[in-house]
Formats: sequence, structure tokens, C-alpha cells
Amino acid sequence: MRFKQVSRLLQGIGFSVVATLVFMLAVNLVPGYDIPQRYFLVGILCAICVSTPVSLLYVRQEGRVRRLHEDLASAYRHLERSARTDQMTGIANRETFIARANEKLARGSGWLILADVDRFKAINDLHGHATGDRVLAAIGSAIRKCVRESDLCGRLGGEEFGVLIETDDPEAALATAERLRLCISALGLPDNDGVLVHPTISLGFTRARAGELARAMHEADEAMYEAKRSGRNRTVRHGFIRPRPRLKAV
Ligand code: GH3
Ligand code: MG
Ligand code: MG
Repeated sequence: MRFKQVSRLLQGIGFSVVATLVFMLAVNLVPGYDIPQRYFLVGILCAICVSTPVSLLYVRQEGRVRRLHEDLASAYRHLERSARTDQMTGIANRETFIARANEKLARGSGWLILADVDRFKAINDLHGHATGDRVLAAIGSAIRKCVRESDLCGRLGGEEFGVLIETDDPEAALATAERLRLCISALGLPDNDGVLVHPTISLGFTRARAGELARAMHEADEAMYEAKRSGRNRTVRHGFIRPRPRLKAV
């Protein structure tokens, strides 16, 4: 029994003894109800005998209720964490990414990078959906490891990821995007038959400012699709898209 529980037990017994004594003294004041002194001792003993098991029961119940509260609070914390996290990759889910990105941008502008896994459908088709899931999980954790702790990263859905970095420097944004691309292209994950899968990603990035996250998402998406069109496994900055060569009429 812990000190707090012992003190609760003694409090219960003490309260019961004092209440009995007060009651007996009050009755003693009523004319014709003189209580002999030895009955006070009997009263105190009775109070101790009755209040001890009752207080013990109370202390035990209180301990149980406290443990239940702790379990409930930890389950709630776990649930809250799960609601914020993408279960497959362990990084932020789309809703959390957008909410945190807006919070970050309110404090200062940055650069948004969108990355999409190349020909992921073929990975699923060739190596199985379970391997596809493992590839996504590995990409999520590689992205997390590849950026700074202060940078925000999330799985925006399917095989698409987002990173928001806190910098004003476009060169730093390009360097981060390229580091991500090389990091992913260095991955080799065995499928169920031991055949190695080497995923690659295409990336688009653009400047992101407060209140303009939707625009930045759209621009980074456009740049990312340009990276797909120009051969995949590459990085394109929005607004720096090479004009497509005109086909000469024959
Ligand atoms: P691209 O290079 O143009 O992006 O080609 P892609 O095959 O990656 O793109 P597409 O949009 O054709 O296919 C995306 C695939 O990603 C289809 C879908 O089944 C798969 N996918 C989406 N979410 C998951 C997932 O959680 N697990 C697995 N295993 N596959 C997923
Ligand atoms: Mg894809
Ligand atoms: Mg996609």
C-alpha cells in the first residue's frame, strides 16, 4: 500500500471516530441521556471496526478508478497519434500535413516538394500488393530520415508524398529534392521471392507562402507531372519547365 493510500485509510477511520464522538457528546447534552464514560470507548472501537473495512474498500476502488483513468488517457493519446499519422509509413497523413503546413507557413514562407513513386502500379503488378506496401513504408521512412527534423513530411495519398522545408533559398530546396530522389533510388527491397525492387520517384517543387498552400500544391503537382513527362526519376522546379521541342512538319 502506498503512502497516499495509507493516509486515505487513516483519514476515513479518523473521520468516523470523530463523527461518532461528536454524535455521542451531542446526545450526552440532552437531558436524561447521560452516557457513561466507558461507552465512549465502546463507541470509538465500534467506529474503528466499521470504518476500517469500508475505508479499505474505498481506497481499493479509488486505486482502480485512477488506473482506469490512466489507461483511458493513454488510449486517447494513442488514438490521437494514430489519427494524425499514416499507418503504413508512420509519417503525417494528408490532413495533418496540410494543417501543419498552414501553421508553418503562417510563421514564414518555405518550399513545397511533391514526390510521386514512378510506375508504382507495375511494382504492385509484378511483385504483389504486399511488396508494394513495404516499398511505400520504406519510402516514407527514407523521406523522414532524408530531411531535417524541423522539415514537415507526409504521405498525401496513394504513392504520393509531400515535404515542406523551411528555407528561402531555391538552391537548398533543389538540393533537398535531389537528395530525396537519390535516397529513394538507392533503396533495394526484396519481394516475396527475394527479387530486389528498386523504386524511383519524380519530384516537383515550388515556393510556398502563407495562405497559398493550395496554389503551391497545384504548382508542385504540375512540376512533378512535368518530371514524369520528361522521363521520371527527376526533379523539376515549377516555372523552370523546359519548353517542349516543336515537332517539325514533314
Ligand atoms: P506514374 O509513374 O505515372 O506515377 O505511374 P504509377 O503506376 O505510379 O501511377 P498510377 O496512378 O497509374 O498507379 C498508382 C498505383 O498505386 C495504383 C494503386 O493501386 C497503387 N497504390 C495506391 N495506394 C497504394 C497502397 O497503399 N498500397 C499499394 N500496394 N498500392 C497502392
Ligand atoms: Mg506514381
Ligand atoms: Mg500518383
